[in-house]
Amino acid sequence: MSKAVDVETPIFLQGVSLDGYIWGDVRHEGKLSDLGVSAEQIAELEGVLTEKVLNGEFESTPDWGVASSETVRGLTDGPVPLYNERNRTGRRYAPVEEQPHLFRTFAELDLSDEEAIRNFTSKYGFLGLKQTGYLDGAFVYFEQYEDWFRAIAEVRGALTLYDTFMGDDYTSQSHLISEDEWGGFALDLKVASLDLGRRLTPRSYLPSVWEKAKGDYQLLFKLFFFEIVNEKLSEYCLVRLHVQGDVEELDFGIRNAPWNLLGALWLQVAMMAERKVTYKKCGFCGRTISLADTRKDTVYCKSAEDSSACRTKASAQRKAQTLELSAQGLEVEEIARTVGSKRTQVAKWIKSVEAERKPS
Ligand SMILES: [Zn+2]
Repeated sequence: MSKAVDVETPIFLQGVSLDGYIWGDVRHEGKLSDLGVSAEQIAELEGVLTEKVLNGEFESTPDWGVASSETVRGLTDGPVPLYNERNRTGRRYAPVEEQPHLFRTFAELDLSDEEAIRNFTSKYGFLGLKQTGYLDGAFVYFEQYEDWFRAIAEVRGALTLYDTFMGDDYTSQSHLISEDEWGGFALDLKVASLDLGRRLTPRSYLPSVWEKAKGDYQLLFKLFFFEIVNEKLSEYCLVRLHVQGDVEELDFGIRNAPWNLLGALWLQVAMMAERKVTYKKCGFCGRTISLADTRKDTVYCKSAEDSSACRTKASAQRKAQTLELSAQGLEVEEIARTVGSKRTQVAKWIKSVEAERKPS
């Protein structure tokens, strides 16, 4: 018997601090001596950081020469302990495999809700845009609010394009695209206050594709999506070799590996496009439902705890509305139209209440 190498290793493992994450006004790294840190402590800290760089845990040592008195809003997992960084408690998970629709949850985060972003981080960890700085005099790794804002807005923007060209009504969004004076096309897309606009120029495409794209909004939306996703993949993902097969005869495979959570999210966006996954909103709670895992005519989401929660709640809501309208004297026909239920169902609800009222 030959031993098989673990082929199904996750393409990216994300670490999440079990100590939780907090928002703070973080001071960018500066001269430590200006911050009241003693020369002895600086020497210790530099030693630890140099070791971290050599171990590949951290990309570079902080730029000690730059003093900064300005603070930025940032998320941190707390002060970096000088000696027991490796003992810090954390858990690991594989976002791409374990949370295939995480990019949708991410894109739907309320940009102005710090608490919602913090909760996401506590569950799924840093995006991988870590910087170094100081919070209340302690050395911390942190991720800037501005970077989170941009990252969420960009994924949301890409999904807006995707949902547009996958839907039937893409011509209604044609105002987002205009032909520019140089013979290219410009996308005018804003998410919150962020301008995600960009241009398509003929030189990047085969003439046959370009000719077809002119006036074909569905194709133009696809090309803009393609440009954005590729740009992000090249920023946050790397092509890597991996080994697979039996120990006696190992084969190489090629795969796209994200190097941070943000890369994993963009890879998921790309995988969604490859699989042509469509989505819709739950008719009750508004959560996104992937139609890859369920029937196309699904209306309500299914929660893990109760497979019919939203369906039941929606039905209860329609029944309550029916009884209210019925009490106001509306006819069955009219109620059915208003609440969006079948006439027979509406009649049944009214009858059931009347039956309850009648003394037996
Ligand atoms: Zn729902």
